[in-house]
Amino acid sequence: MIQPVIVGAGPAGVRAAQALVAHGLRPVIVDEGVSAGGQIYRQQPGNFRRSGDALYGFEASRARNVHAAMAALDGKVDFRPRTLVWNAERGVLDLISGERTERLSYTHLIIATGATDRVLPIPGWTKPGVYSLGGAQVALKFQGCAIGDAVVFAGTGPLLYLVAYQYAKAGANIAAVLDMASFGQKFRAMPAMLSRPAVFAKGVYYAAALRLRGVQVHEGSRPLRVIADECVAGVAWHDGTREQELLCDAIALGHGLRSETQLADLLGCEFAFDSLSRQHVPRRDAAGRTSVKGVYVAGDGAGIMGADAAEWAGERAALALLEDASLVFDRKRADVLERELARTARFRTGLEGAFAFPPSWAAEAPDDVIVCRCEEIAAGDLRAAVRESGVSEINRLKALTRVGMGRCQGRMCGAAATEILAQACGRGIDEVGRLRAQAPVKPIPFGVRA
Ligand SMILES: Cc1cc2nc3c(=O)[nH]c(=O)nc-3n(C[C@H](O)[C@H](O)[C@H](O)COP(=O)(O)OP(=O)(O)OC[C@H]3O[C@@H](n4cnc5c(N)ncnc54)[C@H](O)[C@@H]3O)c2cc1C
Repeated sequence: MIQPVIVGAGPAGVRAAQALVAHGLRPVIVDEGVSAGGQIYRQQPGNFRRSGDALYGFEASRARNVHAAMAALDGKVDFRPRTLVWNAERGVLDLISGERTERLSYTHLIIATGATDRVLPIPGWTKPGVYSLGGAQVALKFQGCAIGDAVVFAGTGPLLYLVAYQYAKAGANIAAVLDMASFGQKFRAMPAMLSRPAVFAKGVYYAAALRLRGVQVHEGSRPLRVIADECVAGVAWHDGTREQELLCDAIALGHGLRSETQLADLLGCEFAFDSLSRQHVPRRDAAGRTSVKGVYVAGDGAGIMGADAAEWAGERAALALLEDASLVFDRKRADVLERELARTARFRTGLEGAFAFPPSWAAEAPDDVIVCRCEEIAAGDLRAAVRESGVSEINRLKALTRVGMGRCQGRMCGAAATEILAQACGRGIDEVGRLRAQAPVKPIPFGVRA
């Protein structure tokens, strides 16, 4: 008997489930969130009454479609919200819901676990009042509140403008947007971004709308440090010629996204370096098949491609599953989906060029900046380990310093630590390896007895 399981009920997971149900299967969908929708189409609590337009803006109709697709699957899938997959083995997953644990068997697995913020630390980033960009957005979208009375958005990536715009639209006070990407970078990336003109136009609109509302937007700037005593009181930043200071009581910091790849790693899937996101991601074919038979990856968890691509990739992975299980599937539809995904890949290249990773971050990060907040490991500790032991591999650095060994298991600090290591030992970021995943992939309550 075929028992497909999908981890993640974001756009990728929902479309995968829909395709499987359309072909007569009854998948289990597991998501740690309270409802389906994932990051972009996150639903508000049941007692909130904001309209779809207020919540999702231009994406309101897509959000409605994904939510409706999930609602139509009611009774046809086994949906397990508020349930975390904390470990994965061949043929079985370990789940936790509240304090209840369970083992769930599968014959085929679609991993659609999405992404998280990549945050490059600056001194003071662990002070109360500093949030990740995604965290700031969750506060607004889910809890209906702003992270502060005067908010600075700093870092790089399209989410910087989107979240700042959403705050401005909701009436929040924005002290400034400090964008590390320069205008020239974006201009040069324009031809590739025009491969998806509508998405490109939205980005231009967000930036223009912020300026029209009188928000200070500083392109090509660099946040230097958080000014704080107990809590955030401001930020020091560099405008390209001189240092400046800004007053604020909250900072949303983010430098693009990183794929959540731990489950594929625990299952022994092969990984390959993705130069666009500067991260190792599961090796996959155009349909999402990994190197492990019966395991598929889709959406941002397989490489950052955005929400539309996540929907196509989820459906494509489901069609691959059907094909591999010798069930009837629509080959023409599979080809259409692959073409759309290829077109998005070109757009993605442009986007990563426009908001390129700040190349000098690792060299400029001061020795005393905390990289791993769980274990309180600073950049200088990592550099000292490189100097003293000649380490040039990230798991070895972890063993020597405990970086990435805390509650987040490197999900927050892994990217920054890898950058510091590569710079300190003079190797490419693709040469210093990736932090191996360990279960539990996310924190689980102390009270749980396995
Ligand atoms: C914080 C954040 C905010 C974003 N906001 C926007 C936005 O406003 N606009 C935009 O265009 N793009 C946004 N993005 C990017 C956008 O979310 C993605 O492109 C899109 O949602 C990808 O869809 P997905 O289905 O691959 O993953 P997601 O939508 O991220 O869905 C993944 C789902 O998997 C679940 N999950 C993950 N790990 C586990 C596990 N171990 N066990 C159980 N469940 C698990 C999560 O709860 C989540 O619901 C955002 C990304 C992030 C990280």
